[in-house]
Amino acid sequence: MTTTPAETGGAAPGREAPVDARAFVDRPWRMLIGGELVSPVAGGSADVIDPSTGEVLTTIPSGDEADTDRAVAAAGAAFPAWARTSITKRAERLLELAEVIEKHGEELAWLDTIDNGSPIGVMRGDFRMAVEHLRYFAGLALQLRGESIPVAEWDAVDFSLRDPFGVVGRIVPFNHPLMFAASRIAAPLLAGNTVVLKPAEVTSLSALRLGELACDVLPAGVLNIVSGPGRTVGERLVTHPEVRRIAFTGSGEVGRRIQARAAVSAVKVVTLELGGKNPMIVFGDADLDQVVPGAVRGMNFTWQGQSCGSTSRLYVHSSVYDKVITTLGRELDAMTVGDPKLESTQVGPVVSAAQYEKVRSYIRIGLDTPGLELVAGGLPDESRPGYYIRPTLFSAPHGQVGPLFEEEIFGPVLVAAPFDDYDEIIERANALPLGLTASVWTRDLGIAMRSVRDLQTGYVWVNWSSSHIPGTSFGGVKDSGVGREEGLSELEGFTQPKNVYIRF
Ligand code: NAD
Repeated sequence: MTTTPAETGGAAPGREAPVDARAFVDRPWRMLIGGELVSPVAGGSADVIDPSTGEVLTTIPSGDEADTDRAVAAAGAAFPAWARTSITKRAERLLELAEVIEKHGEELAWLDTIDNGSPIGVMRGDFRMAVEHLRYFAGLALQLRGESIPVAEWDAVDFSLRDPFGVVGRIVPFNHPLMFAASRIAAPLLAGNTVVLKPAEVTSLSALRLGELACDVLPAGVLNIVSGPGRTVGERLVTHPEVRRIAFTGSGEVGRRIQARAAVSAVKVVTLELGGKNPMIVFGDADLDQVVPGAVRGMNFTWQGQSCGSTSRLYVHSSVYDKVITTLGRELDAMTVGDPKLESTQVGPVVSAAQYEKVRSYIRIGLDTPGLELVAGGLPDESRPGYYIRPTLFSAPHGQVGPLFEEEIFGPVLVAAPFDDYDEIIERANALPLGLTASVWTRDLGIAMRSVRDLQTGYVWVNWSSSHIPGTSFGGVKDSGVGREEGLSELEGFTQPKNVYIRF
């Protein structure tokens, strides 16, 4: 039986009734520029591919440099009035936007599932996270403060203000389309900037729908959404002289290019949220009943491993290594891989043919690497349509070996190796140029705190993994990025301090 959204009122269908994806997407799609829903100037379009079948579902606008210029001009024109709007009024608009997203959450979650391939159950979590972030930042309105600085003169005061930048360029990746599109506009908008948002070309549907919804909430030009390729829309946004603040979430390769390209037209502030190859370290005294679910959750298999914070290098003390790996392999084999539109699915397809090919090539490398043993998953069944890859676990029982321990795969592939010594494992964990997250498992407070101190990452979980909590700062060190998001520092990062000295 197939159910259409109309038959289910746009809400969740019966537990095992596959939804007809076309019913959600078979309609005209437009970008949001200057308060209008528009098509690209040059008429460009791009196919939307269903990752569960590989078939074309619909087409979306594919903008270019001219569209980006239009969006930047609209954002620039809207900036003075938005910056003069009181911050509490701006916060009210964010709260309204959160409410509208919540009201349309089910539809937005379905769009992401259809577009991105992550199961509907987890994509509902994404829209809730977006709503939470919008509300969190709205609540910070009165915390966006300057300082009062004591001065030597008795008839003078010195204080600082926080000015917005103007037009902010926000570029987001494919893995949490709506969550990134909606939550990453909250801080810049609250701080008084206007925004041009560029979603990932392979997952633009929910951002385009967000544009339609935001149209009735935000003044014209305050938020603009341009879909299209990174090499045209993204590059133009980064190099546009009027965009002084760029915030990018995506791969290290593109992030470094952006940092370099941003400087060609002006001096800009660029923050980068990039990839990771994050260690999970299990000491011999850890609660093993928690460790296995922690490793599964940490790898974000329910997003097919496509999460930057995934703990994709598992290091387990040799005294418990075999036990953990055997149990973990069984757990992974038991996960339900299938149509992301089914409520019972735990692992859907990866996002695109390119991602599918990339992950497969890493599995092939794993199979060809002496010293690596396949414990679960492996190469996908080629005869099955769609980009499905089973949760895969490789074990290196005699010590880590090969590129699977060094490179971000961004797919459902976990590698594991044993260790014996604290210093040795911290050195291995820190050996890569990346440093986004780490997860440490032990009941010994001393080991936990030493690990927290010694690990070179921007985020550490102890006896936990994967979670993000609004208000805590997320971001990387080394090649995993610069800047912090999801907390007060993100909001402050969309302002520039202005010092004021007054002699009276
Ligand atoms: P990507 O770098 O390929 O693309 C990200 C965005 O950049 C897309 O919108 C893309 O169109 C755009 N882009 C591409 N080339 C560009 C260019 N030359 N100029 C400007 N923009 C350009 O990344 P992806 O494949 O969409 O996402 C996966 C990557 O994102 C992984 O490396 C993952 O770790 C990382 N990521 C990091 C975080 C974090 O918070 N640190 C969160 C999610 C994803």
